[in-house]
Amino acid sequence: MSVARFWRKIPQRYNLVGTQCTTCGSFFFPPRTFCPDCRRAGVIVEHKFKGTGEVVTHTVVRSASEQFEQMTPYVLAIVQLDEGPRVTGQVVCAPEEVRIGMRVKPVFRRISADGESGVIYYGTKYIPAE
Ligand SMILES: [Zn+2]
Repeated sequence: MSVARFWRKIPQRYNLVGTQCTTCGSFFFPPRTFCPDCRRAGVIVEHKFKGTGEVVTHTVVRSASEQFEQMTPYVLAIVQLDEGPRVTGQVVCAPEEVRIGMRVKPVFRRISADGESGVIYYGTKYIPAE
């Protein structure tokens, strides 16, 4: 996924609200309204993920759109949540500190400020949990 596309998906990615099929126990993020295993027997409920998990892969972003330029370099990682689904998120640590398999936990942080409207967005980022 491109960095620009990642940031456009902020509301969905940062609320960490997905769904669970209570019939088989599977978790879905992004949320699904239909369980591919249980099909019509699946009972889908909303699930707020704890947000703890571990780094599967990561990249260091050294140039970003104007809005995020002052944050560079920053670490963007795919985090496998303890419930199973994978999410993309920013890990707040030094670029040389992040590694595959690192435990992370969520923190509620400022994501960005929209210069024109003055709106400041908050959401979930990750910090090392070890
Ligand atoms: Zn199911």
